[in-house]
Amino acid sequence: MDLPRIITLRESSHRIHNPFTPEKLAALGRALHLTPGTRVLDLACGSGEMLCTWAREHRISGTGVDISTVFLDRARARAAELGVAGQVAFVHGDARGHVSREPVDVAACVGATWIGDGVPGTVELLGRSLCTGGLMLIGEPYWRREPPDQETVEACHARDRADFLPLPELLAQFGTLGYDVVEMVLADQDSWDRYRAAQWSNLRRWLDRNQDDELAADVRAELTTDPVRYARYEREYLGWGVFALMAR
Ligand code: SAH
Repeated sequence: MDLPRIITLRESSHRIHNPFTPEKLAALGRALHLTPGTRVLDLACGSGEMLCTWAREHRISGTGVDISTVFLDRARARAAELGVAGQVAFVHGDARGHVSREPVDVAACVGATWIGDGVPGTVELLGRSLCTGGLMLIGEPYWRREPPDQETVEACHARDRADFLPLPELLAQFGTLGYDVVEMVLADQDSWDRYRAAQWSNLRRWLDRNQDDELAADVRAELTTDPVRYARYEREYLGWGVFALMAR
């Protein structure tokens, strides 16, 4: 069980595998008023940047779960680099169905709600790990503009326009699921560029060194088409944010 290699190549320089800059991640941490000792569970934690930086800035402790051995190695190295290896642990495993043994104060899934087959299932899953009065964090795309056609929908990595909601409807959905939205930090087009455009640089540098690799043709094709696709569709139509929720 591991992440396809093309993804780790594409995001080889990324510490944050979503359209947030370090500044936005830090702003989210400050917005949550985290206190020292807060216990955090991060499902699909990627390279662990949220846990590691919040452990340093806010002295939280936490556990991250992810299927990518490459990202988890980086998470452990980052924890050592920031001097927080004693506060955070990273576990290789499938986050689908993962419930912490002890209740946590913050339960997060940032940019991977497929682990619960969508937002409702992920809210239900995270809720099973959360202590009474705890905070839930969901990172999720939304339609920044209504997609005019199926081509736009698919270029934004959705199969169906109903896979994502416009922002007001997404916020309303959290209410329907029994949660108050108590904070949110949204990506913007510049922070999207830091996530997506940085991938082109990673792929081009890799391709120059690995012309004979079995993935070389796919990487060449992606480099040729992706900047235009991104600028035409994803950058215009797709928003993304992290939403902090508390059970009503
Ligand atoms: N939350 C991180 C990573 C988001 S990218 C961040 O914001 O930086 C999505 C992550 O989901 C990747 O790290 C990928 O390895 C992980 N992932 C995908 N399917 C998973 C699963 N079934 N269980 C655990 N992690 C999964």
